[in-house]
Amino acid sequence: MTIHAYRDVAHLDATKSLRAAAQEDRWEVHPHCSIDRDTFRLGVTAIQSDLGEGCAMQAAMVLYLQSKELSALRHFFPIIGWLDGPGRERWAHLYATYLVDFPLRIEFIDRERRPAPLAVRTMVVGQLVSCFVYRPDVLAAFRTTQPTFSICADNRTYTRVGGVGGGCYDETAHQMILEVSRLFEGYWQPTPGVSPFLHELGHMLDGAQRRLTHGHACVGELPAMDDVQRLAWQSGKRVEVQHYRRYQEVGIVVDSAPLGHPYVFQTDGEFLAGYWEMFWRNPHAFAAHSPVLYAGLVSYVEHDPRVYTTDYSGYVTGNRAFYARGERAWASQIRIS
Ligand SMILES: [Zn+2]
Repeated sequence: MTIHAYRDVAHLDATKSLRAAAQEDRWEVHPHCSIDRDTFRLGVTAIQSDLGEGCAMQAAMVLYLQSKELSALRHFFPIIGWLDGPGRERWAHLYATYLVDFPLRIEFIDRERRPAPLAVRTMVVGQLVSCFVYRPDVLAAFRTTQPTFSICADNRTYTRVGGVGGGCYDETAHQMILEVSRLFEGYWQPTPGVSPFLHELGHMLDGAQRRLTHGHACVGELPAMDDVQRLAWQSGKRVEVQHYRRYQEVGIVVDSAPLGHPYVFQTDGEFLAGYWEMFWRNPHAFAAHSPVLYAGLVSYVEHDPRVYTTDYSGYVTGNRAFYARGERAWASQIRIS
């Protein structure tokens, strides 16, 4: 019998993990909890029936659905492994509140629209709670704006319901539209990587802020920032925009390139979405490059992702390469002076 250690298998394709296992094998969730092969197999079957066979799934989600142990989600939400007793209870309480009572509209669309299965709700609610575990007030305010998360079974469905690009946020409907595979895309390695969900969430928070303040248009701001946080955000952003404008004018990097890709300098909304995602995915590089902007976000969410996560380097490496090659800058409509 082999016991498959969580850290070794959490990121692996559950179907392949199942196929490679012997009948008597077990999968470990944590030192006091493991599940057997039949239980694991039932979990794989249930997910395929819920989401369609085309949606590949990490073993960590099967372990969570079959054991209901929150620690099985630490692969997706590394903050879980770091939170202490009261912090963990706080996470669990918020998660249960937003998951069970359906206060958020999370739908799954294939041939029809229906309430999203647990695997999908877990990814949406777990990410929201991980961002705002110390800001339940922001979560509560966000909820009052009645956001809709529309998760589509495949690309055809995504296009049919109005999805464009690799993921999108419809500001008028206050609706995120995403293919289900993209919810799980960044988790095929031990450390979480790309997260279209976090990017679109940045746009959605911007949309929530517009609704909460009765603004006419999104301006690239997060809900319920205090004056000090807003000042840090604006001054840190100004420095990044200045780096970008200098690059635009000169065509090469003069003293420093911005951390973000030219894509995020197109508008204030893209800037927020891009830097919001990088804050969670490459916090170490972000903090070293732009300490004021980073500190503003740490103050806003009331915790520092660097304490529980290592950087996903994909964005930073790709962006640095873009500027180092002297590629043509994109047009920018950012209004900060
Ligand atoms: Zn965007």
